[in-house]
This record gives sequence, C-alpha cells and structure tokens, in this order.
Amino acid sequence: MDQHQHHHHHPAGHDHDGHRHDHGLCVKDALARAEEVCASRGARLTAQRARVLELVWSSHKPRGAYAILEDLSQDGKRVAPLTVYRALDFLLEQGLIHRIESQNAFVGCADPGTLHSGQFLVCQKCGEATELVDPRIAQAINETAHAQGFQVTRQTVEVTGICPACQTG
Ligand SMILES: [Zn+2]
Ligand SMILES: [Zn+2]
Ligand SMILES: [Zn+2]
Repeated sequence: MDQHQHHHHHPAGHDHDGHRHDHGLCVKDALARAEEVCASRGARLTAQRARVLELVWSSHKPRGAYAILEDLSQDGKRVAPLTVYRALDFLLEQGLIHRIESQNAFVGCADPGTLHSGQFLVCQKCGEATELVDPRIAQAINETAHAQGFQVTRQTVEVTGICPACQTG
C-alpha cells in the first residue's frame, strides 16, 4: 500500500554526503537548547515533543511529517499522525524548528533563543538547508513591504543553489 521509498537515515555522527562533522553534537546541543528555551518560557517539552525534535534534527536536511511519523513507529510505538502534527506545531511555535515551504518539510533552528523568521540556503543537489540568521534581510523585506503599504505576517526566504560540499564533490 505504501509507495514511499524506504530510506535509511543515520541519526547521529554519520553523514554519507561528505558533509563531515560530528552531527551527534548538533543533536545534543539542539536538545539542550530546546530544554532551556522551553524552561525559560514555561513551555512543556514533553518526551514525545523532544523525540520529534530529535528526529527533525536527524540531519540538516528538511524532513517531512510523514518521515518523522515513520521513524516514530520504528520506536515501536503507534503514534497518530495528528500527534506528530501537534508536536511539530508546538516546535514551530517555540521557534525550535522552521518549515521549509518548498519541500513541505521541517528543519531544526540553528538559533532558537530568539524568535525570528529564518532565511535558508537550500542545496538543490543534497537538499541540505542552511539557515542564515541575518536581521538585515528580514528588515529589508519589512521596510520594502511597508513602503508598499503591505503588512507582513510571515516571511519565507528560501534561496536555491549548490552548497560548498556539492560544488567540490
Ligand atoms: Zn550537524
Ligand atoms: Zn532559526
Ligand atoms: Zn549540497
């Protein structure tokens, strides 16, 4: 019934695309920051929400809700899709993840301490999304929109191209 491709993913410390770094540290750091951010706001990072965050962070490639749901079911638990969507909504609200609109997928936020609209460089070869946190970009968009009498409610900036690793690879 399911027609999706089965693909392995490597949760930590492993990168088969040549973008070598200790990704286990990225995940550990992201979870620690999430704890801090939620604690400071009085938001509840439940075990399940933390697990969903960990799965979003399984690489620097945006992951779709369905892939996350599949990972959760591999944990041996049956989880309703709605549960995953709610956890993702929570993580979005807390600024712990961003949605990559062009892929209908989610990626961990590099700097969740302050709420911001991220800008992303999305590699068309490997699919990695690199977040730019540059307030000047958001400000320029806001100012330009404002000059047109346009009220901005959300910004989505996704720049498509080829990342340094894919240029050398
Ligand atoms: Zn990493
Ligand atoms: Zn961010
Ligand atoms: Zn790439």
